[in-house]
Amino acid sequence: MTQRTLTIIKPDSVENGNVGNIIAHLEREGFRIVAARSLRLTQAQAGAFYAVHRERPFYTSLVAYMTSGPVWVMCLERADAVHYLRAVMGATNPADAAEGTIRAAYGTSIERNAIHGSDSAENAAIEVAFFFAASDLV
Ligand code: GDP
Repeated sequence: MTQRTLTIIKPDSVENGNVGNIIAHLEREGFRIVAARSLRLTQAQAGAFYAVHRERPFYTSLVAYMTSGPVWVMCLERADAVHYLRAVMGATNPADAAEGTIRAAYGTSIERNAIHGSDSAENAAIEVAFFFAASDLV
């Protein structure tokens, strides 16, 4: 079933010049880009986006990192998009990510791990709506 998900190409990827490589990787894997834009997250936006992690020891550091520079947010479409993107991304820690995954190729630490992908269909809908209006989704 065709499904939509939300990805963020994180600040380390933008800083390291890997945006094009990551988009090419996603297109090669059959994702269609439904909406895309670059932005710099505010403290409030990053805090709200990662609110589920607010009790975790790495929350402050994660928010600081995610606001440290521009990101690219994209709504992606594909069969089984949510699970498929998680597989294409690889494990949270790039050191544990399978060969050929985006995090294995471009991530540099458990925090600076190149890319975000929604972890469920429910969160995908919430996260797409966090960044895009219905009229942006083409
Ligand atoms: P994801 O779904 O694979 O992105 O992982 P999580 O939802 O568990 O964590 C969200 C993000 O927080 C990750 O993508 C990392 O950028 C960061 N993160 C996760 N675990 C750690 C950790 O143990 N230490 C630090 N510094 N950052 C972490």
